[in-house]
Amino acid sequence: MTFKAEYIWIDGTEPTAKLRSKTKIIAGSPDGLDALPIWGFDGSSTNQAEGHASDRVLKPVAVYPDPIRGGDDVLVMCEVLNIDMTPHESNTRAALAEVEAEFGAQEPIFGIEQEYTFFEGDRPLGFPVGGFPAAQGGYYCGVGTDEIHGRDVVEAHLDNCLKAGLGISGINAEVMPGQWEFQVGPLAPLEVSDQLWVARWLLYRTAEDFKISATLDPKPVKGDWNGAGAHTNFSTKAMREGYDAIITACESLGEGSKPLDHVKHYGAGIDDRLTGLHETAPWNEYSYGVSNRGASVRIPWQVEKDGKGYIEDRRPNANVDPYVVTRLLVDTCCSALEK
Ligand code: ADP
Ligand code: MN
Ligand code: MN
Ligand code: MN
Ligand code: MN
Repeated sequence: MTFKAEYIWIDGTEPTAKLRSKTKIIAGSPDGLDALPIWGFDGSSTNQAEGHASDRVLKPVAVYPDPIRGGDDVLVMCEVLNIDMTPHESNTRAALAEVEAEFGAQEPIFGIEQEYTFFEGDRPLGFPVGGFPAAQGGYYCGVGTDEIHGRDVVEAHLDNCLKAGLGISGINAEVMPGQWEFQVGPLAPLEVSDQLWVARWLLYRTAEDFKISATLDPKPVKGDWNGAGAHTNFSTKAMREGYDAIITACESLGEGSKPLDHVKHYGAGIDDRLTGLHETAPWNEYSYGVSNRGASVRIPWQVEKDGKGYIEDRRPNANVDPYVVTRLLVDTCCSALEK
């Protein structure tokens, strides 16, 4: 008996890392992480090594049923190590693991809204050849062939995520034609981040079968068209129990150099998307507010009404690294909440 294990990792492409994967045939049957050996790859082909010392190590960190191959086959999320087993410089997961260990007692959880855009050739899906579709207005959560492009891919991706056991909490059509969103969480920092990377891999892989590509480009069409973000919803146990902690978290994100410290790691091209238009706050001005989709951080109305819940950091780009945004939010907010 053998099974197929698809080892998935994050490469060293600048400024935005890409997903890579390759298949290992393993004897026996899958039995969690223990059945999955450490593996290697050619780091000189992924911007993770020089050719003269190119071996890099893949260490399995999470395993999911493979919804595409089915049967006993699995998807294996990996982190990249050097051959001395230290984290490779492209490995942003290792730093999150440290911060999660430090602040885990506060029980931080995240729900991340992943927006993305389908492309067919060089055009967003639904854009006519050599022109533009009708202006934005009817596409968000729309229905009907005139407004919706790619629903068959979206449904197949959702089913694949659910079969893989990912904690998807919903999907919706977005403001620009061909643009969609899925949400992962709420889950603990490492869990939500591993699962978001796997959900992204499944998005690309599912769309392959439809001869469609998907991109996390934060501003796929210049001009009066919405960009693509990754709103990051966050709470700790104290925030889920009281409003003071909600305000403490919002205030901590505005202190000193924090706004810039965060935004510069919220995805390449952030200043193209956070312009102050299209439901964004300007990238260089921090603000928070109840129900305010023009603020950096939104407190949902229900949270104000209940006096507890979570906050939404609206700044991260669609191409953000979830290991980084969750680490920064836990570090900043949990440090302040600890005082
Ligand atoms: P929006 O109204 O901004 O479009 P969505 O419904 O798309 O919001 O996404 C909200 C996300 O917040 C979901 O992933 C949801 O699971 C998550 N969420 C809900 N409650 C919490 C919480 N207490 N802490 C963190 N995330 C939460
Ligand atoms: Mn080879
Ligand atoms: Mn949403
Ligand atoms: Mn959205
Ligand atoms: Mn949102």
